[in-house]
Amino acid sequence: MMKCKEKVFFEGLDRKHFIEHVENKVKMTIKKYKLFTKKEKILVACSGGKDSTALAYILKKLGYDIEAITLNPSIKNSSRKNLDNLKCFCRKNMIKLHIVSFKQETGYALDEIKKILDSKGVSMAYCTICGILRRYLLNKKAKELKAEKLATGHNIDDEAESVLMNLLRGNIGLMARLGPIAGVVKSKGFIPRVKPLYLCREKDIQSYSKLMKFPVAYERCPYAQSSYREIVRNELIDFEKKYPKTKENIINWFLRILPELKKDFKKDEEMTYCTVCGEPSQRTICNACTILEKLENKKI
Ligand SMILES: [Zn+2]
Repeated sequence: MMKCKEKVFFEGLDRKHFIEHVENKVKMTIKKYKLFTKKEKILVACSGGKDSTALAYILKKLGYDIEAITLNPSIKNSSRKNLDNLKCFCRKNMIKLHIVSFKQETGYALDEIKKILDSKGVSMAYCTICGILRRYLLNKKAKELKAEKLATGHNIDDEAESVLMNLLRGNIGLMARLGPIAGVVKSKGFIPRVKPLYLCREKDIQSYSKLMKFPVAYERCPYAQSSYREIVRNELIDFEKKYPKTKENIINWFLRILPELKKDFKKDEEMTYCTVCGEPSQRTICNACTILEKLENKKI
């Protein structure tokens, strides 16, 4: 029986049952969408934020073979603190942590890359550059570390934003690449990305993270403020306040049409490889190499 002084977190659940509820949801998502098994080596992409930290913790607790990887864009403010938090968390929970820095890999920090691209007339938002390099470096490192899957901390709120964003921009092809298992076609050179928090609400992960006292900062990336995603995110938050379950409804609809959508885009998406770096790419030179080419003294 629940005691009166116990705080109620979710539909009448107390602390213990709330924790179980979140963990079971992750367990169920992994099984339902066949994300991975206990025999596979899983690399968890960690940012030091609440979602990926909770993800690493829950997967470890459920007995999966995990290691953590983090990309340090070498930007000021939150990144240093996030890295320290993550190191502390991984040490405490005996999770092996791999740290990859933008500076080491490309010769430059994210803000330096942005400046160089600007000076060369390539106008790209911080989030775009960061996203492209992140994706590229994570895949490269995951292959080096012989991981079978790369798990990310995307939750239902993130995914609803992505679905809506691609819908509003008319990017149906990009929408087809979303889902609990990202991508449309399997490729030897591309480590599959999976999202075990797919059905978890952001506010539940936040409560879980606070309950477990994870060393995480709750503010958002300082560079995200002006992105298109942030605009869609804020609209969606307003909408959800007026019409609860909006995000859940978007995802329920999306999951229904996703198999057909993926089938449809499979035909179009023959995987080819970047002629510069050899990573999987839909163009002859991948986005990451397009950015890296603009940087002088590049190391890659
Ligand atoms: Zn490339």
